[in-house]
Formats: sequence, C-alpha cells, structure tokens
Amino acid sequence: MIGSLVRSFLRHQASSNFYPLSRHFHTSDKRGNLPAILFTLIKPLSKIASYLLGRGARRAWKKLPETKQRNFLQFAKANRGKFLLTGALSAGGLFYLYESHIQVCPITGRKKCVILTPDQARRIGEANFQDIINDVQESIVPEIDPVYHQIASVANRILSANRDLRQIYDKACTLTVVDSPVVNAFVLPSGNIFVFTGLLEACDSMDEVSVVLAHEIAHVVLGHVEEKLTRTSFLQMIMLVPMSLLWVLIPYDGVAFITTWFFDTVTNIMLELPFSRFQETEADEVGLIMAAKACFDVREAPAFWAKLALKDGNTDEDPDADKALELISTHPANETRQENLEEKLESAIQIRRECGCKSLDPTRDPMKKVEEKRQSIENRKKRYDYNL
Ligand SMILES: [Zn+2]
Repeated sequence: MIGSLVRSFLRHQASSNFYPLSRHFHTSDKRGNLPAILFTLIKPLSKIASYLLGRGARRAWKKLPETKQRNFLQFAKANRGKFLLTGALSAGGLFYLYESHIQVCPITGRKKCVILTPDQARRIGEANFQDIINDVQESIVPEIDPVYHQIASVANRILSANRDLRQIYDKACTLTVVDSPVVNAFVLPSGNIFVFTGLLEACDSMDEVSVVLAHEIAHVVLGHVEEKLTRTSFLQMIMLVPMSLLWVLIPYDGVAFITTWFFDTVTNIMLELPFSRFQETEADEVGLIMAAKACFDVREAPAFWAKLALKDGNTDEDPDADKALELISTHPANETRQENLEEKLESAIQIRRECGCKSLDPTRDPMKKVEEKRQSIENRKKRYDYNL
C-alpha cells in the first residue's frame, strides 16, 4: 500500500548522516501554532462568517427603530477616526503577519510567505492520505506488482540523484499506485505521491514516467501546498470585509448570494488560478532539472506534454479547447507546458552533461514521434472528411 521502496531509500540516506531527517528547512520560530485544520477550512469558514456577519448586521439594522438608527449613524460619524484607526491597525497587523513569514526558497531563490509549520503540513497531508486510501483501497496496486516496482525505481532514482537538496529529507515520501483509468498524479503536503495507472498508460517509456514523478517530487520539495494554503488563508481574511459588506448592502438574500458568488468566482479566476498555474509551471521546471540530474532523457518532457495536447485536440470537438480553457484552469494548458519546457530544455541537457550522464542519442528525437502521430491523425481526419 505505502511505497516502502521510496521510504527505505530515505531511511538509507538518513542513516548515512548526509542530511539527517530531523533537519527541516522551515526553521522560523516566528510562525504561529494555529490548528492545522484551520488552514484547510478557512475558505468555507470565511464564507459562512461573511454571511452571518453581513446578513446578521443588515437584519439587525432593519429591526432598529428609526431613532436608534439615527443615533448609531451619529455615533459612527463622531467616531469615524477611531473606526478608521481600527481598520488601519487590522490591515497593518495582517501585513506584519505576512511580512514576518516571508522566506526565500533555497531551490528557486523566490520569496514566498509560508505560515504553516512542517508539522502542520504533515498533519494535513496525513489526514488527507487516510481519506484517500479509504476511497481507493480496492484499487491499490500491491508493492509486489512489477508496475509498482518500476515506478518506485524511477522515484528512487530521482530522489537519489537529488540528495543534495536537503528539502527531500523534510518529508517521508511514499508512493501509492492506483489502478484506475484516470490520467492523473498528485502529491500531498506530507510527501505522499499518488499515481493512477491511466497516466502510466499515457506514458511510452520510463523517461516519460520520470517527467510525471519529478514534477510531483518538485511540488514536495518546493513546499507548494504549504504556500498555497497560506496564500488562500490571507486572501480569505482580506475578502471577509468586502464579502460581509455585500451582504450588508444588498437588501435581498438571493441577489446578495449571486453577487457574492460572482465576486468569489472573479477573485478565484484573477488571483487563485494564476497562482496555481504558476506553481505548476515552477514544478515542471524544477522537475525537469531533477529528472536531468537523474540522467533521464529530458527531451521526453516537452514531447510528453505535446503528446497529451495532441490527445486532447484529437478527442475534443474544438482542437484549441485546452488552450482556451487555460484561464479557468488550475493547470496550464498542455501546449503551454510543452512550449515552456522546450525553452528550458537546453539548460536541462547541460545539467545532465555536468552530472556525467551518458550522452543522449542524437538520432532519437522524441518530438519526431509526436509529429508523426500528429501527421497520421491529420491524414485520418482528411480521409474521414473526404468520405463524408
Ligand atoms: Zn502539479
């Protein structure tokens, strides 16, 4: 059930005293000890709070006799300085909280705000892990299965080649392979990687599997989930004020509900989804380097996304649907991922050389394979149109 091979690699490395497991890179003692569950529930809690506060205030206001409403307005006018000061202090406090938790990512050099402690992230991940395991229990590929062995050996090769990144030892990485046609793989903040066999069927070689696994491991070492939960928490705290105000100012519940939903959707499209796509791109790029260090054929990375783009274009009615839907998607379009990885390919091949990997076969071009596939699909389509 749990990837003991991946785990045993970590134990082995830890016992070599190269980078002991206890050395966490999140060492800031400034972070609070808020219950971990709060970070996952903050979104629904904030929605309920804005509804209760805003709607409650509106209804209470309506019930007040006119004289009391007048008195309240006079009181608010007389004390507006104090109200403004309270607002400014709250905003300042939030800003301080954000600033005091900024750290520099040792891998990318990018500044990021992370409030969750590694222990909180681990607890969130472990709770999710148990839920997911319960859901997929019947479909888990056993560790003795050759498919599991192959994937675990790719994961171990990536982990082993990247042991210079001490972030690898922050999490006890595990691997769970689920027998399902879903073309997906994901990772939890505790380092538990899930791979669905549907995704493996989309891969023609272990080099392609390395693209997927290196991407997931990159999410782990970059602490993406912790960063995303922190960002969502801040956004929800900021959004609480305008959302509550909407419930106060809009006199009809139905209209207020639709307006807050619209406001929430726009915020999601403008702020949350672009950040999610940014993290995916970052994991693609760092994953490419990790796979290069493990001597995989990194030319397969852009070719893999080109192949998936081709598959989507072939099955969708609109061949550009994937690209068109990118704006409302958590992940970049397959084509965008391909183009981005193509740009980084030369430097990844250089890293591969510096790591002393065997030279890549110049006569073998993974993109050629995709081009041939594209050509055969187009020819088939032409024949089909002709027959019509
Ligand atoms: Zn991802």
